[in-house]
This record gives sequence, C-alpha cells and structure tokens, in this order.
Amino acid sequence: MAHQQPEQYVSDFDTVEAAVEDPERIVLEMDGVTKDYGQEVAVEDLSLSVKDGELLTLLGPSGCGKTTTLRLLAGLERPTDGSISIAGETVTGEGGDAFRQPDQRDVGIVFQDYALFPHLSVAENVAFGLTDHDEAGTEQRVDELLDLVDLTDHHDKMPSNLSGGQQQRVALARSLAPEPDVLLLDEPFSNLDVRLRVEMREEVRKILKRAGVTAISVTHDQEEALSISDRVAIMNDGTVEQVGDPATVFQNPESRFVASFLGQASFLSGRVTEDGVETALGTFPLERLNGSVEAYDGATVGVLVRPDDLRATPTNESTADGYVVHRQYNGPSFVYRVELHSGDVVHCMHNHVETFDAGEPVEVDLVADHQLAWYPAE
Ligand code: ADP
Ligand code: MG
Repeated sequence: MAHQQPEQYVSDFDTVEAAVEDPERIVLEMDGVTKDYGQEVAVEDLSLSVKDGELLTLLGPSGCGKTTTLRLLAGLERPTDGSISIAGETVTGEGGDAFRQPDQRDVGIVFQDYALFPHLSVAENVAFGLTDHDEAGTEQRVDELLDLVDLTDHHDKMPSNLSGGQQQRVALARSLAPEPDVLLLDEPFSNLDVRLRVEMREEVRKILKRAGVTAISVTHDQEEALSISDRVAIMNDGTVEQVGDPATVFQNPESRFVASFLGQASFLSGRVTEDGVETALGTFPLERLNGSVEAYDGATVGVLVRPDDLRATPTNESTADGYVVHRQYNGPSFVYRVELHSGDVVHCMHNHVETFDAGEPVEVDLVADHQLAWYPAE
C-alpha cells in the first residue's frame, strides 16, 4: 500500500498568526529600570523592548529578578530608577513621575496558580474583566475567547471540574478578554505535571499567536524558554545578559553564564595561534570558531562544547584522550563525563544502547558541524 502524504506538514511554529498591524512597532519599553529593596537590588539598570505581537521570555535562575520585572511592568511595584512605556504611553517616568496604578495600565496577568474564581463558572470567569461591554457584547466576546482557547463545551463548568491544562486556558482567556496591550505570564507552566507542561507550551504559544497579543513570559526552564519564545532574555542577578532569538542565544551565547544556563556546557581550554586553536582534542582551524578569535593570538580561551558536539570512542590507553568518569542515563541517551588528560572535563552524548563503563579509556572527537563559541580565559 502506498504511503499517503500528509496534506500539510505543520511545524511547531506554523501557528495561525493574527494580523499584527505593525510588527516593528515597539509596544513595551523599559529603559534603565532599577528596583532597590534596600538590602537587595532585585533589578538593576534593565533595558528591554518588545515588539507588537512578540512573545519574549525572561529566563534566569531563581532570585534573578524575573517576578520583580513583571511586577514593575504591571505597576505593582514602583521602580527606584528608570522609565517604562506601554503602547507609546509613559506608565512610569524618570524619577517615579507619571506613575500609573495597575488599573490604569492595559496589562493582563496570568498568575502562576491561575487565580480563577472558584464560585464562578468558566464563562463568568472569562466575563469578569469585561466591564465596558453590554450583556450581548459580553456574551459574544466570551464565546469568541472560549473558542480561541478551545473550551466552548465547558462554558458552564466550574473551575474545580476542569483539568490543570483547562484551568490554565480559562485563565488565559480571562486575561485576554479586555484586549490588553501586554500580557504577562509568571512561570505559567509550573503547576502542571511534566507531560502536560510540554503539551501546554505548544498550546499556549498557539493561543497567544492567534490572539496577536504582545506577551512577556517568565521561567527558569531553558527548554521551555527556547521552545515557546520569539526572543529570550537571559537574566542574571537583576540584569539582562543577552537577548536574542532562541537559536542565536543557544548557538552564540555571549557569556559563560548564558552558555551554562541554556544547556549542559563544557569549556575546552585552547591556545590561539596563527594555525588554529590548540586544544586537548587537537587544533581547530580558526574558522571553526565564532567571531574574530585571531585578535586573541597567543591567548588562552575556553571553547564551548555541548554534549551533542562530542563523541567518545573506546580505545586503548596509548591513544586515549581521557577516561570516562561518570555515566548519566537519561532514557533515550547517555551523557558521559570524560576527564581529558589535559584536566578539562567534557560531556559526550550517546544513544541509550552505547554503554561504556566508568574508567574506560576513550578518544573524544568533535562532531559539531557549527561554529563554536569561545570566551577569553577567566
Ligand atoms: P525571581 O522571580 O527571578 O525568582 P524575584 O524578582 O522574585 O526573583 O526576586 C529578586 C530578588 O529580589 C531576590 O533576591 C528577592 O529575595 C528580592 N526581593 C523580591 N521581592 C522583594 C521584596 N518585596 N522585598 C525585598 N526583597 C525582595
Ligand atoms: Mg519568580
């Protein structure tokens, strides 16, 4: 029997996008924003701009200032310094001038725990923020939103009778109802189990794109950030270290911190010479490295290698580059930690059937076919 071609091949990012009037228009701008709590500077000199219909994710470790940034945008905190504008209007001016209270900003928030009203039905929850519609208008808007989040059949249900994923979609519909200029989502998937989390990522992105809303999401989960966002801003200690589209920040992290936060990262020490960068795994031609490494002639650098960039092959002691010191089983794959004779420690990813033992002498080869990021010695 002949295979049937699927009619349409749909990738994660081929979602139906609402017409955004001007995708270049800046909808949200933070300029030099600082929030000093006294003992703690939660956000420091943070500048960021987000375009119409864009989904930007703030990614960083716990305590780096993500939630504070959202609270500043929503008007729940006043910055110590800096200004914020939303849809072309200043909501916090320099020196705290022109501060607009949360209800004076067109900002929607999806809370971590969804914060649905337990005594109101799905439709009543969604209708809650629709104060400037008459009855017929409200009904029509609620129907549109329930259709958007695919909950039309759950119109009259109570939140307690919904699954976690459905509750999240009600929360989304409720915050999208008044057509906010910006939607803020704080760790939106943290209350869902792992399997549902992956499913809802796709679903939430689809809904936001269909709605055409400008959104800022916050997470400490790099996979989530890379998979749902148009752009990712990596935060460290109250500041943004790098902003870019997911592939760019993953391939070209501008600092060791960003490289380490976006996935398992090892740094292979190398010496830059005219002939290439000499490392424990051989000399890499200069063009294998990002940017202008030539300028560092004679210097020592750290070359970023991720587990999928390297392969280990068991060999005898005399030709080995190092030894397997640890084996991590991840289900579909093993990640082997290899200590090289040079003292560098690297990680190599292998298929789940390629079993090597700790202590095994291995040769390590670079199999990456992309340019490698590197950093000046620390
Ligand atoms: P994240 O959301 O990235 O985990 P937060 O924005 O919640 O980080 O917090 C950033 C830093 O600011 C933390 O060190 C936290 O302890 C501190 N912080 C947050 N809110 C307050 C507050 N109301 N008073 C004092 N310190 C705070
Ligand atoms: Mg937080």
